[in-house]
Amino acid sequence: MVELIESLREHLRREVNDVHGINIDEVDYTLERVLTLVAGGTASQFAWLSMLVSNHLVPVAGVGCAPNGVILPDAPEWSVIRSGKPLRVHDLSALDTEAATALAQGPHKICSLAAYPVFTVFQQSTIGVLVVAHNRPRTYPRMQQRVIHDGVRVIEDVLSLRTESIRDPLTGCYNRRHFDRQMQNEWRRANRDHLPLSCAIIDVDNFKQFNDSAGHAEGDQVLRRIGQALASRTRRAGDLVCRYGGEEFGVILPNTPGESAVTLMDELRRAVQDMEIPHPALGGVPVSISAGVATVTSFEEVMRNDAEFYMEQADQALYRAKSAGRNQVVAAWADDVADQTASA
Ligand code: GH3
Ligand code: MG
Ligand code: MG
Repeated sequence: MVELIESLREHLRREVNDVHGINIDEVDYTLERVLTLVAGGTASQFAWLSMLVSNHLVPVAGVGCAPNGVILPDAPEWSVIRSGKPLRVHDLSALDTEAATALAQGPHKICSLAAYPVFTVFQQSTIGVLVVAHNRPRTYPRMQQRVIHDGVRVIEDVLSLRTESIRDPLTGCYNRRHFDRQMQNEWRRANRDHLPLSCAIIDVDNFKQFNDSAGHAEGDQVLRRIGQALASRTRRAGDLVCRYGGEEFGVILPNTPGESAVTLMDELRRAVQDMEIPHPALGGVPVSISAGVATVTSFEEVMRNDAEFYMEQADQALYRAKSAGRNQVVAAWADDVADQTASA
């Protein structure tokens, strides 16, 4: 059982990297120092930080206690995640929950705690919880609450500085640099594990005319909305959407065969069309996107090519989608665009 939880934790720790773009190993030392300061400033025996990933709360750093296990569903941390508000518990024995009992009867005999939400800048949502705790009932006076609050702010800065270096500021999607690095990683992983890997390039149709008619600021707004629509519809672990260039987006779909990638990209294309953003230069028809998709199809092929090769293939397929009339998805392996595209 312990082994199972630990392998789940390892998996979730890696996911913290994929989901939030935060490599916990890189910020471990900083997190521990902040937790030490917060524990000291609040005269607490313990302090830990848990992060939300794939519907689990995983302790990622701790002082006075090693981070382990996953947070039980009825733990106070979960109320903090749900409410986005701090929670202070004077005496856990008053809470008749499995999590409270586990804390009280665990190795540290935890009796009281204060738990504070940690937010992200881009997602504007709770991504974690900082907890300070003690083995006797106690309150947290206002001055100590300030210390915890300041500690949370520092942690948010540490996490978001890391996040900012991999995000595009306009759309909140990943940036090109992070995309290129992840594409290399995924390509190596596909090569090693013999799993299918797909990638795509998306380009907004007739966007120069949109800007010319509606103005650049309005254009920026559209790019933001499209970026968010794409990111919110590609949510499997490892899926990644980036702003690839001006009005272009790049997509990585690990463990996804070509046909599924084309189907997903066509769903994205439809989703953008269904947003019904009127194109002022085209009589108000909805703004649309085109996409080119490439896939690693055989592993002999992988040996000969590299990650860039597949992005070039996707780009050539995108070019064909544009030539064939836009608002469509073309697969790099399709010989005849008219027969094999998914189109409106
Ligand atoms: P196509 O359907 O062939 O893609 O036509 P297009 O007009 O979209 O293509 P083109 O490459 O000629 O123009 C891309 C335009 O995208 C140029 C520029 O006006 C716009 N663009 C690029 N980056 C940004 C940006 O950050 N903000 C805004 N508002 N517009 C941008
Ligand atoms: Mg373009
Ligand atoms: Mg374009």
